[in-house]
Amino acid sequence: APVIGVLALQGDVREHLIALAAADAVARPVRRPEELAEVDGLVIPGGESTTISKLAVLFGVMEPLRARVQGGMPVYGTCAGMIMLADKILDPRSGQETIGGIDMIVRRNAFGRQNESFEAAVDIKGVDGDPVEGVFIRAPWVESVGAETEVLAEHDGHIVAVRQGNALATSFHPELTGDHRVHSLFVDMVRANRTAESL
Ligand code: GLN
Repeated sequence: APVIGVLALQGDVREHLIALAAADAVARPVRRPEELAEVDGLVIPGGESTTISKLAVLFGVMEPLRARVQGGMPVYGTCAGMIMLADKILDPRSGQETIGGIDMIVRRNAFGRQNESFEAAVDIKGVDGDPVEGVFIRAPWVESVGAETEVLAEHDGHIVAVRQGNALATSFHPELTGDHRVHSLFVDMVRANRTAESL
């Protein structure tokens, strides 16, 4: 089974570890560069993107993260994790950095002003069956994407799921629902990448 890390600096790490295990991956927390080097793919959880950014710099893992994402390691970011994967944030807090990897501009707390937290059915390209239950918690949306970024889902006319190559991001939190189809999609991406690398 593929070994998938969850960036464990801050946020809902435990929920992702459980969801990944349910989707047949070997899941483990990642804090240090040595731990990052040992995983086939990485999830960046929801939480607070400013805090995750600052801790990543403090723990010396920001540059290694950028290097691995640029090197094609599969990565999946939820909510704050989506913000971390954006090449550009519309409204960064001071000192806030991202890992980047997806050619998109993200607006933080975009849904938050109308409604701090809500659930909505979301149809995701690549996920078969019923729409997933989208849990949005002070969620960002994607303001715009570059030519290489594929839009996988929208809610209320706003982009809420994207993929560029091996990088996947959602505004919402599938790890909180008990429905592991989005995690399975990501585990499949990691498996496909491992196969490609071994050819
Ligand atoms: N609003 C948070 C941020 O800007 C994200 C919220 C979440 O991950 N649930 O990082």
